[in-house]
Amino acid sequence: MMSELLLLQPVFKDRIWGGTLLKKEFNYNIPTNTTGECWAISAHPEGESIITNGKLKGMTLSKVYQDHPELFNHCESKTFPLLTKIIDAAQDLSVQVHPDDDYALKYTKDRGKTECWYVLDAVEGASMIFGHKAQTKEEFISLIEQGKWDELLIRREVKKGDFIYVPAGTIHALCKGTMVLETQQSSDTTYRLYDYDRTDALGNKRQLHIKESIDVTTIPHSDFCLMTKVTQIGKNVNTKFVSNQFFTVEKWDIQDYIQFPNTRFYIISVIEGEGLINLTKVTKGMHLIITSAAKEVKLEGKFSVIASYL
Ligand code: ZN
Repeated sequence: MMSELLLLQPVFKDRIWGGTLLKKEFNYNIPTNTTGECWAISAHPEGESIITNGKLKGMTLSKVYQDHPELFNHCESKTFPLLTKIIDAAQDLSVQVHPDDDYALKYTKDRGKTECWYVLDAVEGASMIFGHKAQTKEEFISLIEQGKWDELLIRREVKKGDFIYVPAGTIHALCKGTMVLETQQSSDTTYRLYDYDRTDALGNKRQLHIKESIDVTTIPHSDFCLMTKVTQIGKNVNTKFVSNQFFTVEKWDIQDYIQFPNTRFYIISVIEGEGLINLTKVTKGMHLIITSAAKEVKLEGKFSVIASYL
């Protein structure tokens, strides 16, 4: 069948906090020993996936999205709405916050950024920063001005298999020893609040965006309660983590065979095992889109994917 599946070639990003786990874990051909991000399914101008199969081979995802709306169920979004990454935090990431769509539209040409993480791996005792303790904007600003970061920031443990939802306006930072699969709105707008006073080889600190961070942070912090829904279908399990106006994110654990009718497009990252998706062989580390040209989704084998859709 025509373009039922689009297989995608990822783009890699060197980051000062990156490492080599993307090679060790997924056998990717990473460009440096500080590779922090794999942009797995991306039509963002900062790093675009290329189609590697079928008659659209060699085209960018943004071009295919533009020229073939029928493959994306004639999606209303003018540009491809989502971005999937794998992040290897070998060191702590800066403490940051993302704007919502309204703020981003006003001050940047990008979207806002609500994101979420499925934790692929975490070392014993790994943690992350998620949220802050200030009750008012005045208190928030005062703690920043005094550099009382430990008083301000909330630190939590993370472990393999956790799912973390990070709405726009939430202070957050992945910390060292964590690898996540990130699903996010297709955006590259990050406001850096604190970078641990780190310097690069030349002694320079990375740019901070204190004013913007204060503008967009939700105060007081509010924890979002996720209602994870687990559905058993024979031996196979569907876990729905989150579903909102930006995306739905699920994990599919396939043990034998499952088939269901389709009208939408799915963004798929294979995180474990191998099998067949609509008769195409897939293995751990592959990223693809099941397009709306596929009238059915057929999954066979022993593998797990993170699937997202609108
Ligand atoms: Zn972020």
